[in-house]
Amino acid sequence: MSVVVEKLTKRFAAGGTPAVSDVSFHAPAGAITTLLGPSGAGKSTLLRLIAGLESPDSGTLQIDGVDCTTLPVQKRGIGVVFQSYALFRHLTVRENIAFGLTIRRLSQAEADARVDEMLKLVQLEELGHRYPGQLSGGQRQRVAFARALAIRPKLLLLDEPFGALDTRVRVELREWLHELHVRTGVTTLLVTHDQEEALEISQHVVIMSEGRVAQAGSPAEIYDRPATPFVASFVGGTSVLKGHVREGRAQVGSLIVDAPESAREGEAVHAFVRPHDIKLVKTSNGHGVNGTNVLKGSNGVNVGSSGRVERLKPVGGYVKVLLKLPTGDTVTVEVPRSEFDQLGVVEGDSVQADVRTARVFVGDFSI
Ligand code: ADP
Ligand code: MG
Repeated sequence: MSVVVEKLTKRFAAGGTPAVSDVSFHAPAGAITTLLGPSGAGKSTLLRLIAGLESPDSGTLQIDGVDCTTLPVQKRGIGVVFQSYALFRHLTVRENIAFGLTIRRLSQAEADARVDEMLKLVQLEELGHRYPGQLSGGQRQRVAFARALAIRPKLLLLDEPFGALDTRVRVELREWLHELHVRTGVTTLLVTHDQEEALEISQHVVIMSEGRVAQAGSPAEIYDRPATPFVASFVGGTSVLKGHVREGRAQVGSLIVDAPESAREGEAVHAFVRPHDIKLVKTSNGHGVNGTNVLKGSNGVNVGSSGRVERLKPVGGYVKVLLKLPTGDTVTVEVPRSEFDQLGVVEGDSVQADVRTARVFVGDFSI
């Protein structure tokens, strides 16, 4: 069941800024599509429009080729899981899961069989008779999934379903959701502000910013070829360096990079550098290895700089190195642990920073 959204717009106040503005995207059948963006981007509003919990000012929604723009909520065949569990506290796990089935007038025997099936699916067979208050946060969210899936929805909508859980449980449930999706194959739309979650779990990513779609594509496309400065900075923990076009190249502080072809002399540019796209080489004299500032960038580009190690932050398997460039700009570099041990640098050391790839955008903008 694919989902096609065309030019959806929703304003909460007449004449105000739209929460969702002219949004179009396609969620492929049987896939997990994530709506990824910062808080306030309009993700939840968009999901609520698709669920039928809000109605759009304009635009259309098709589910499996059928126009559902004005279809009432209960006729859309959609299962929804929100961040807060929204389970009925006075009902047992079984009764919570059966809730939508009773409304849909399944017989008692059919409903019982469906609840058993769902408990098995979410691996909570033993806990059917407990109340939500007797479950952990992760277990409660699994009950919420069971309840959403019990009606055999055409489409599953998930709004930050793991947002209220601690990191360890969140990461476990991410894997669990992947397996659940493999088993059910139900077309899923997942709202998240967590880029790792989005890149890891989905086949298609729609990046939202200020009510609009900034870019849509596969996780690899989004990561490797960000279409806008916003996407480049939002995904991948990127350092942003400002500069200008000088003699056909982008001079970004102490670095020199090839400018995009459209760039004109004197124009402002921003270079976006990923933390793992910088290679550090230790220098003994406090200058670059060969005295020049040369490093390799993505568009056939060279850039390079010496820098000073400002701070080292070991994070498990890698070390975050905060590097101060001669211009005063700071970039974050991630070095795998084994490479770091070989490098043998301490805070205050001078290093040469070789940029493997950088993405350069022309123009003056705030991100
Ligand atoms: P996200 O889920 O990406 O954080 P939301 O869709 O919740 O974003 O919100 C988008 C914008 O719409 C925000 O500016 C928010 O304040 C506004 N908004 C959301 N819901 C309502 C509402 N019911 N009434 C008025 N404004 C709302
Ligand atoms: Mg939200």
